[in-house]
Amino acid sequence: MRLKDIYNSNKTQISFEIFPPKGEDKAQKIDNLISELKVLKKYNPALISITYGACGTNRESTIEIAKRIKSEVGVIPMQHFTCICSQKQYIQDYLNEIEEMGLENILALKGDEPKDNLVCYRDFQYANELVEFIREKSNLDIAVAGYPEKHPSAESLDEDIKNLKKKCDAGASVIFTQMFFENDNFYKYCDKVRKIGINLPIVAGIFPISDYKQIRKIAEMSGAYLPPKMLEKLEKYQNSKEDTMKFSIEYSINQCQELVENGASGLHFYTLNKSYMTGEIIKNLSL
Ligand code: FAD
Repeated sequence: MRLKDIYNSNKTQISFEIFPPKGEDKAQKIDNLISELKVLKKYNPALISITYGACGTNRESTIEIAKRIKSEVGVIPMQHFTCICSQKQYIQDYLNEIEEMGLENILALKGDEPKDNLVCYRDFQYANELVEFIREKSNLDIAVAGYPEKHPSAESLDEDIKNLKKKCDAGASVIFTQMFFENDNFYKYCDKVRKIGINLPIVAGIFPISDYKQIRKIAEMSGAYLPPKMLEKLEKYQNSKEDTMKFSIEYSINQCQELVENGASGLHFYTLNKSYMTGEIIKNLSL
């Protein structure tokens, strides 16, 4: 099923993001991941998206996992793809490979600049160029990333939204957002996006927090705003995983329920390859 068809109703769609496991016992970790996804399948996800490592470091794993999500879990997989270090021919081959697998959708991204002066191809500078290329060279439906609290490198939110419009005009079908914890920031963002003339569905990024230090680090990197009231509790519970998760599940249930009631097109859960927190949140929502 194509993104255009998945997000064409007023119902809030559920989806999950996972990342390809790394390390020595990778095969076992992938098996565990598939088991976790089988648990989450009961919440009827519209799709499961698979992150792509900077400079294509995990290309083979993303393909293997997508195949297993399709055949063993029975859910639509969606590959992320980053263009920052890729040559056109390499991308063309990848697009052919995933279309041959019967996949119909892709999340097109720039990817983060490599930190270690890695020799890097520069066929593409920004994600809008990748969207244009995919549109021209394949029949895939294309999702793009949006940043309710602005991309860290953007001068302003307005500037970032002007750049988002370039991706949409190049042929995107849906916007998946960065995680956020303050719904008001998401609503203001959606208003601005609509005002500039973008009418695509906007899928909200939801991050169930299980670790205080981890979320501080992620927020610092991504620029996500952590509301003081939430932060205060997470700080208080930082030495108890159980209390942190309990609080965070409750927080996300309230956040997601409000988004559903305000007509969000979708909730995209950053699962970190685990089913428990995401499952606890979804089963308490009236969708
Ligand atoms: P772009 O849309 O190109 O924007 C990057 C910056 O450049 C922004 O500041 C923007 O305002 C500016 N800009 C954009 N176009 C132009 C233009 N034409 N002219 C001038 N300025 C411009 N990273 C990974 O490595 N792997 C993943 O799997 C992955 N998945 C993600 C999934 C989601 C839902 C999100 C929100 C992010 C994900 N990322 C992933 C992170 C992403 O790669 C980084 O945030 C990256 O820095 C920006 O990617 P982008 O596609 O948004 O870039």
